[in-house]
Amino acid sequence: MQGLMQDWSLLIHRVIDHAATQHATRPVVSRSVEGPIHRTSYGEIRPRALKVAKRLTRDGLRFGDRVATLAWNTWRHLEAWYGITGIGAVYHTVNPRLFDEQIVYIVNHAEDRLLFLDLTFVPLMERLQERLPTVERYIVLTDAAHMPQTSLRNAAPYEEWLAEADEDFRWADFDENAAAGMCYTSGTTGNPKGVLYSHRSNVLHSLAAVSPDMLGLASRDIAMPVVPLFHANGWSFAFSAPMAGCSLIFPGAKLDGPSVYELLTSERVTISAAVPTIWFALLQHMEKIGGELPDLSRVVIGGSACPRAVTETFRDRYGVEVMHAWGMTEMSPLGSVCSMKPEYRHLAGDAWLDVKQKVGHAPFLVEMKIADDEGKELPWDGMTFGRLKVRGPAVAKRYFRLDEEILDENGFFDTGDVATIDPSGYVQIVDRNKDVIKSGGEWISSIELENLAVGHPDVAEAAVIGIQHPKWDERPLLVVVAKEGKQPTKDGVLGFMEGRIAKWWMPDDVVVINEIPHTATGKIQKTALRDMFRDYRLPGT
Ligand code: AMP
Repeated sequence: MQGLMQDWSLLIHRVIDHAATQHATRPVVSRSVEGPIHRTSYGEIRPRALKVAKRLTRDGLRFGDRVATLAWNTWRHLEAWYGITGIGAVYHTVNPRLFDEQIVYIVNHAEDRLLFLDLTFVPLMERLQERLPTVERYIVLTDAAHMPQTSLRNAAPYEEWLAEADEDFRWADFDENAAAGMCYTSGTTGNPKGVLYSHRSNVLHSLAAVSPDMLGLASRDIAMPVVPLFHANGWSFAFSAPMAGCSLIFPGAKLDGPSVYELLTSERVTISAAVPTIWFALLQHMEKIGGELPDLSRVVIGGSACPRAVTETFRDRYGVEVMHAWGMTEMSPLGSVCSMKPEYRHLAGDAWLDVKQKVGHAPFLVEMKIADDEGKELPWDGMTFGRLKVRGPAVAKRYFRLDEEILDENGFFDTGDVATIDPSGYVQIVDRNKDVIKSGGEWISSIELENLAVGHPDVAEAAVIGIQHPKWDERPLLVVVAKEGKQPTKDGVLGFMEGRIAKWWMPDDVVVINEIPHTATGKIQKTALRDMFRDYRLPGT
């Protein structure tokens, strides 16, 4: 027997319809790429998104077509996403920090027909356009006054292009399983792989994201996603914020410590989200100027492990709770957030920080397990570690245009992470499977060593890689970057770490370098670091 409830498909444009109806005046504030702060609201964004949809149709874009965006977080980027998905086309976020070759590969692989880009990226696309035959036109996210002379094919300034349509348009109606968005994994080995989100997966994922134990977004919040929309589906903010009806603050192209600090304070942001490197820069800046964050209550930190010292500084110095989060592009991307269940709520001091080092627990819609190499499930005892596997309606089942099977026989996706899960369901990421250091048949977590080393007052950033060792197979090498004006020494750093980890986990050497290489999504690029130290020999070997 069927239920007798309405068919109401989970389409993304229903989210902006809701925001414009229930939260019409809620501010959406952006640092524009042109410079000035721009203010609009959900009530104004919806009609402009309808215009985008209508105007795209006039350009011949149809259901299922891919439209690329190479853009910072601004109101125009948000409108573009809703306009694109409103005709059943697919937004494809291109990460501008990828190498030229990777950008060419993914735009061709996705067969993007139109590309929205910020002013910042005009020279980049002029350089690449000859190699992008599928892109019929380039829309620069600016107005006529700021439009540069450009050789880009069929280029137009967004505002003038948009003005050629009105908002008298109806969102298309289609199956909720239709593709909505696309984001390629950064592909440290081999070509990037396309993850293709559906309307249904984005809506369900965002419903989970707004829930109290996840981002806990409410209409009274003022949310600033510093994480770019081109990182892993923007961690859901383009949908979860309007769904909750909270204000959105977009930092545009300026993601440095002073610029982020300025917006956090001037716009009275209550919740923000970014990868750890953004927060390192912000904390350093605030330390220098004696900054305060009276309105900010929580920061979501993920993408890489959040060091304990960062969580502690936010708590003790600024009264801000770090929500350590874990996820991946293939998971839409949120997999878990470290909010406190009742059994941990009473904790304080170091015990609280111990739990905050974990990446928290999964919401409804994400199922998890840890398994050994043979696929045997392992216990949730907080000690046994294994491959972390996940399944759910917002987890990828295949990559775009690749036949390769990526799920196990029970439908679980192997995340490539090694983790423990405790009896309360809290996940601790031990390492990436390929980064874990295998020493004498045992495993050393590079993440744990890095997190500890950045707690040293002279260390700005730390990375650990395994170096070949004749007796132990691999031993850890700690590479650090000094804080401005400081000179950390090997003895000083090792002395700081001693007693806080097992003796055999202690790095065999410490090397200070000027800069640690990062991937396009801000993660430590271990492959590049291993190349850098290919000829390096540990002391005594
Ligand atoms: P991406 O798809 O680029 O978002 O990368 C996903 C990967 O980032 C995960 O599989 C993890 O290896 C890593 N990652 C994300 N969040 C965390 C975290 N909080 N701690 C440690 N690693 C993380």
